[in-house]
Order: sequence, then C-alpha cells, then structure tokens
Amino acid sequence: MQPSHPLSSLPAGGRLTIGLDALVANWRDIRARVGAAETAAVVKGDGYGLGVEPVARALAAAGCRTFFVALPRGGVRLRAVLPDVTIYVLNGFFDGAGAVYRDARLRPVLGSLAEVDAWLAETGGDGEPVALHVDTGMNRLGLSAAEAAALSADAGRLARLRPALLMSHLACADQPEHVLNGEQIRRFAAARALFPGVPGSLSNSAGVDLGPAVHQDLVRPGIALYGARWAANVPPLRTVATLEGRLIQVNDVPPGAAVGYGATFRPARPSRIGVVSVGYADGFLRRIGGGATPSGAVAAVAGVRVPIAGRISMDMLAVDLTDAPREAAVRGGWVELFGPTVPIDEVAAHAETIGWELLTGLGDRYERRYLGG
Ligand SMILES: *Cc1c(COP(=O)(O)O)cnc(C)c1O
Repeated sequence: MQPSHPLSSLPAGGRLTIGLDALVANWRDIRARVGAAETAAVVKGDGYGLGVEPVARALAAAGCRTFFVALPRGGVRLRAVLPDVTIYVLNGFFDGAGAVYRDARLRPVLGSLAEVDAWLAETGGDGEPVALHVDTGMNRLGLSAAEAAALSADAGRLARLRPALLMSHLACADQPEHVLNGEQIRRFAAARALFPGVPGSLSNSAGVDLGPAVHQDLVRPGIALYGARWAANVPPLRTVATLEGRLIQVNDVPPGAAVGYGATFRPARPSRIGVVSVGYADGFLRRIGGGATPSGAVAAVAGVRVPIAGRISMDMLAVDLTDAPREAAVRGGWVELFGPTVPIDEVAAHAETIGWELLTGLGDRYERRYLGG
C-alpha cells in the first residue's frame, strides 16, 4: 500500500537548517591556511549528522576532490552522487566486501598486514589504490613501525597495493603543547621515509593549527567544516547547523509550581513556560537539562536567550519564555536549541560532551533544510 502522506511531508517537532555556504566558506578558510597541502573533507557519520550527500556535493562543487568516510555504506552513498571524487574508507577493508569497494571505487585505509593481505586476496592486486595507516602513538588503527618496515621491504606486495596516501592520526592535536604531538610527527617522518613518493596526511581539524609539519600533503578536517569547535580554547568557524524546536504549548505557571519530571524547576515569579516538541529521542541529550534549578542550559527565541526549564523528556523539553519577545514566544513558534545565538559547543558542554557527538546523534525526526550550495 502506498502511504498517502509520505513521511517527509509530515509535521516535524524540530527542524535542522544546514548552511551549505557557511560549510563551503569554512572549507575555503582551512584551504587558505594550509598552503600547498590539499584540503580534503571528512564526511563520516553521515556528514557529521548533516547529510553526507548534500554536504559532499557542496564541497565538491567548491573544489574538494578527496573525501573520507568511515564505512563502505557511507562510501557507496557518496559515490552515488559524486562519480569523480576520491573516496577513502577510514575503517579500512571489511572482509568479503571486495566487490563493493571495486564497484563504488572505494579506497580502503589499510592499517595492518592482515588487512593488507585480505585486501590483496579479494582484489587480486588490481583493485583501487589504497591508503596506508601507520600507527604513530595513538594505538588505535595503523601498521606498527615493524609492520610498516616489513611492507616497505616487500616490493611485490607494494606494487600490487599501489599506496596513494600514507596517513596517521594525532591523539592530542587539540592540545598544541602536548608532548605526544612531537613524538607522532617524528614517527610519521620515519614512516614516510619507508615509502618515498607516497603523499602524507596527518592533520584533522585541530592539526591545521599546528603548522606545516602536520599539514604534510593533505589535511583531513571534519568538525571545523561543520562549524563546531575542535579544541577547548579556539573560536569555531562559521555556524553551519541550526537546530530549532516547535512550540506546541505555552502555559502561565505561578511561582513555586513544578515543571517537568522530578519537579526540578520551580520558577520564583509568575512565568510563561513553553513546551518544545524536541527531546532526547531526537538526540537532544537528557544531560543537557541536568537536574538542577536552573541548570544553566539555554535556548533562544528570536535571538533572545531563555533558560531550559527542568528535565528534558523523550519527545519534549520546556523553556522559560517569561523574558522572551511576546510575539515570537507563541504556540507554533520556533525555539533555537543551538545555532547562531546558542553555540553548539555551549550546549554540548552542558551534557559533558562534544560537538561531534551532539551533531552525529541528532537522529532522523527533524525536517532538514539546506540553504545555499
Ligand atoms: C574523524 C577523523 C578526522 C577528522 O577529525 P576532526 O577532529 O573532526 O577534524 C580525521 N582523520 C581521521 C583518521 C578521523 O578519524
């Protein structure tokens, strides 16, 4: 049976507005800062929750040629909209999926000799070029120094692999003074000497601040493109994502009355309390509301910051609209949950998390609007 009302036409409790022009401007800002290095884009996690297809299309139109996804499924989605770009799969090669990588022309980022051999066994040595990931001290993914040395000495295997990129990942790029940065840069230089002629890549968003030794030949920014902070004490680039919730009820509440689960919010004065149709089932984390009165977390109405009132429910949250502009604080109006007035990083901090997690957890119940691009 055909649904008479397609899901995308149904009312949504919240809307997510994605500024593609701001995204592209952020990418250009980074490109301007890394000199001759190529500026790629990391679009894993469904383009950091903002939609891999529109995000990557906008970046490709601006000149981005190389993209990183986490999994083959992200790569397949990307290939469907961008036939000509280079796509690397950060989580590497998944055994049995050789045909997927071949058909979508996905390049695995290979991080162990076992993975190298699995790739060669399935592709017969005439698959896509690959990236090699060397571990320089994060102890997550990557060939050990010994494995890298063994591979570099094996001309036959290398010829069949055709590595097009040598990469590693910094554990503490967001802390410029951290001793591990220098150690990782030195180990990466040693690894690059094993694979002469193969371009190198070491930088995420935070690495861009660390200069040419970290920029290498290609930088891989993610979070900076999407307008959130990549380190504690840096200002973000332009705001890209704005999250808003719809006001579904506005109530007059007397002083001392309790609002929400646990009765944690009790206004001291006669108050107008707005109920917003977004909750933790939408990835607006319950921790943001805390339990204290007031928690300190805010939303905004027509550019005016207003407190979040009490606990966040599964599908709703409450805001104290007493000091909000009257004409905007009405049933059917919109409340900014993060965006130009309430920075996403401020909201993430209330939940003791980071912009990366907030963005990628937003879920699929929002109306999504793409501006520009
Ligand atoms: C996620 C990721 C990036 C991008 O990191 P940001 O901090 O979002 O810029 C770059 N490289 C690797 C290997 C990653 O996993």
